[in-house]
Amino acid sequence: MLQSTIDNFVDIFTDVSKPYSGSIADWAKENIILPEVYGQPGKLDLSTSPWLLAPLEDVLNPKVTTVIKIMAVRVGKSMSDEATIPFWLSQAVGPILRIHQDDESASAAVETKLLPMLRGIDCIAPLLPQKKGIKKGLINLPNTFIRYAGDKESVAHSIGVRYLILDEAHMYDAGMIEKFIARTIDFAGRRKIIISSTPNETGSELEKYYLSGKVFEWHWKCANCERYQPYWWSRQRADNSYAGFNWDTILLPDGEHTDIAKSAKTTWLECYHCRHQICDNLENRRKLNDNGKYICIKNDGDATIHSYTCPLFVNINLPFEFFTTEYLKAKRQKQLGLDEDMRTFITGKLARFYKSEQLSDDSKIMRGDYIPNPTDYEKEWVNIMTIDWQAAGDVKYYLIRAWHKNGTESRRLAFGVCRTWEEIDDIRKKWNVRNACVGVDTGWNTTTAYQVCIKHFENFRDPTLNREIFISWIPMKGDGNKLSYMHEDKTSRYYAPTSKQDPLWSQDSKFYGRTAKLVLWSNFSIKTILFNLRDNKLPGIKWLVDIKDGEYERQMYSEGLFDELDKKTGTKKLRWKKVGDANEYLDCEAMNLTLAMRTKCFSGTANEDELKDFLLKDGINK
Ligand SMILES: [Zn+2]
Repeated sequence: MLQSTIDNFVDIFTDVSKPYSGSIADWAKENIILPEVYGQPGKLDLSTSPWLLAPLEDVLNPKVTTVIKIMAVRVGKSMSDEATIPFWLSQAVGPILRIHQDDESASAAVETKLLPMLRGIDCIAPLLPQKKGIKKGLINLPNTFIRYAGDKESVAHSIGVRYLILDEAHMYDAGMIEKFIARTIDFAGRRKIIISSTPNETGSELEKYYLSGKVFEWHWKCANCERYQPYWWSRQRADNSYAGFNWDTILLPDGEHTDIAKSAKTTWLECYHCRHQICDNLENRRKLNDNGKYICIKNDGDATIHSYTCPLFVNINLPFEFFTTEYLKAKRQKQLGLDEDMRTFITGKLARFYKSEQLSDDSKIMRGDYIPNPTDYEKEWVNIMTIDWQAAGDVKYYLIRAWHKNGTESRRLAFGVCRTWEEIDDIRKKWNVRNACVGVDTGWNTTTAYQVCIKHFENFRDPTLNREIFISWIPMKGDGNKLSYMHEDKTSRYYAPTSKQDPLWSQDSKFYGRTAKLVLWSNFSIKTILFNLRDNKLPGIKWLVDIKDGEYERQMYSEGLFDELDKKTGTKKLRWKKVGDANEYLDCEAMNLTLAMRTKCFSGTANEDELKDFLLKDGINK
């Protein structure tokens, strides 16, 4: 080892006499040179990003354990976390855990940003292991470590850490934030938790944490009346006029539709109080930023938790016009029933939690609660048909099951192969399956599959809502990433809330504007439960087949549980994988079980302990 390196070591470990007395931002300015991969490479000067300073000060505030930054995309929240890491390494050492949305993002952030930055810092570089000494997910330093990973159960349950950074926590599975925070308990009194994320939906775990303590919101100051106010996109005054962002609506030559580009160019920002108008230019946007500050908008709750929120308007390189364009485009999509772009605008740009629309309770419709004069069979049973559509030969595999509404029994009624959707629909009618209870796999030929689903529809009058409801077949897709999904009623289930998808209808189609309501289901969880049903391992539940059939049987055993090695991170993940040739009936059964859960003929409430039990019953001890 070079003498200079040893000297550096000695300096770092013996130099307890003069701890750095300035702020993290000051320290960063003296020590950090951002590599090229950052938007603004070179010496790190946070004074041009005033919205990042108060959260950084709270990192050093002994009264604050948790700093939550709910901010728009690309405003530097992750970068300021990366600047905090070397400060900790040199000033207040302790094990660090940084969680990202998945392993891939974790590796990318470390390899392209964090490590190059750390190697450029004089007092840190000598401590870093050589390239081969850095294991995937772990940087070992002489006196501590930095662990980085995706939001995985295994990481949530390993060794304790003093510093925890949760990056893009809006992407995590429900319940994971709490589990990661539990890992800091050993360091109570000295720990620090930072959550950096764009927001997600109202009612999420992330929002619960965001609102659990004091909340500070970035406000702008009116140059005329000098009052501070949030960056309201649009706020109605008592006289029905609007403050916030306004524009003149300029119509296209058709005199009907808005000319988005021309209208957006007229955008101005208007003070709620004095109606002062701020026009869109770089100088004005810079002034807004220089004069902006955080205002406490919620003062109760846990005083050790400080939340900060700021919108994308702090990026002065983005003109007001950009936001209006994005908004008007998203609004146009929303009018077609597609709210994904509006969701992205509100969460990613305005940095506000998104309140999605309530859909009607499909389970009642699927259970047949609206059937006028139900037969005795219809009172007790629901028939569900699921279809797996294969690219090879355009073949459709179908499977029909009856589910008892009390959840104790399911009987397979029929299964087979069809060439056309007409044949499928004839079989549906023959077995008396209602359109609301048909699920179609959309993994192949997705857009056509959406259209097929919507074309098989019926209208009926919902007696409780007292309005006409459009009911069609249900587009479905297996999801290899998640174990469960949070629903609006704050219950976690093995399938996702429906999401609206665009079937790309032509403008002259009678279905134009009609969206497909996709049901995503957890491949791992649903199949784990299905195999326990198949093997008769769930007490009190009968899951039966009508006749023995070789092909069906083979397909039902066509998948096995494997520890799949993630090549990027070197970690293992349990997955159901194909071992046989065909698995179409298996997918039909998995989709059928998913719809039985939606119909409340089988519990769909996700419970990880229960899932572990299912795996144990399967003889797999993990
Ligand atoms: Zn004003």
